Amino acid sequence: MSLHDPNCLFCKIIAGQIPSKKVYEDEELFVFHDIHPWAPVHFLMVPKQHIPSMAQLQPEHAGLLGRMMVLAPQLAAQEGCRPYPQGGFRVIANTGDDGGQEVHHLHLHVIGGPRPWLKG
Ligand code: AMP
Ligand code: ZN
Repeated sequence: MSLHDPNCLFCKIIAGQIPSKKVYEDEELFVFHDIHPWAPVHFLMVPKQHIPSMAQLQPEHAGLLGRMMVLAPQLAAQEGCRPYPQGGFRVIANTGDDGGQEVHHLHLHVIGGPRPWLKG
């Protein structure tokens, strides 16, 4: 699997070739606001490495995915989700056609904030 796919929308966002509203960045992760938010908080967490979906995950990716899950609540709070348990958020990883995946670069949706939400 190559590290970047020149035809991938999220690889272009990570490279800055397509603008985005950045939430967070480090050596291995990029986080930005979803362009069509469902809720007051809706951002996408993506590995900089082009992994098409959860279906391609290997044991070597466990640390990366673990770090994404640990970072999610920190960024959710930073972006306006209220504290647990009244506050909260959902983490969604749409995978494949049956999973409703539209962009084939692995991403976690973090969706939260006070209801009502548009969907979900
Ligand atoms: P999925 O169905 O899980 O593949 O979701 C892809 C998500 O990417 C959708 O929620 C879109 O609104 C979002 N999206 C598509 N294009 C952009 C973009 N240029 N910037 C930010 N989010 C985007
Ligand atoms: Zn990509």
